[in-house]
Amino acid sequence: MNATESYDYIIVGAGSAGCVLANRLSRDSSARVLLIEAGSPDTDENLHIPAALGTLFKSDMDWNYWTVEQSPPGRTFYWPRGKPWTGVSTTTTTSPGRHLSAPACTR
Ligand SMILES: Cc1cc2nc3c(=O)[nH]c(=O)nc-3n(C[C@H](O)[C@H](O)[C@H](O)COP(=O)(O)OP(=O)(O)OC[C@H]3O[C@@H](n4cnc5c(N)ncnc54)[C@H](O)[C@@H]3O)c2cc1C
Repeated sequence: MNATESYDYIIVGAGSAGCVLANRLSRDSSARVLLIEAGSPDTDENLHIPAALGTLFKSDMDWNYWTVEQSPPGRTFYWPRGKPWTGVSTTTTTSPGRHLSAPACTR
């Protein structure tokens, strides 16, 4: 990508939704589709082991979000959001489903 290129569609976020959308839109070979992802490639081997998903929380593969203060006052909660390509489905119990959207992100 460079600053002078133009696209018909720009999709921000290569999570499940972004990958499916990019896949569908790019079936039209005349359409120029740009999919932008802030996270990294899914290189951590634990991403490919559903039982290891707990190791991904609060790791480099996670946005490490916390909620605002909840009731009772003073309590905040960890809110897992996956950071690699294919997004939160990569780092949660949705991990088997990520294989449905992953091919769109590796084209
Ligand atoms: C703990 C947990 C368990 C779950 N379990 C299930 C389940 O069992 N079954 C089920 O159906 N669903 C489950 N879900 C829900 C499901 O995983 C999500 O609804 C779905 O994956 C969301 O997809 P998405 O594409 O909307 O968002 P995401 O997957 O969050 O994708 C957003 C993408 O955008 C990227 N991004 C963010 N900001 C930027 C930026 N500024 N620029 C570029 N890229 C950016 C992120 O890195 C991410 O890759 C679960 C969710 C969680 C958190």
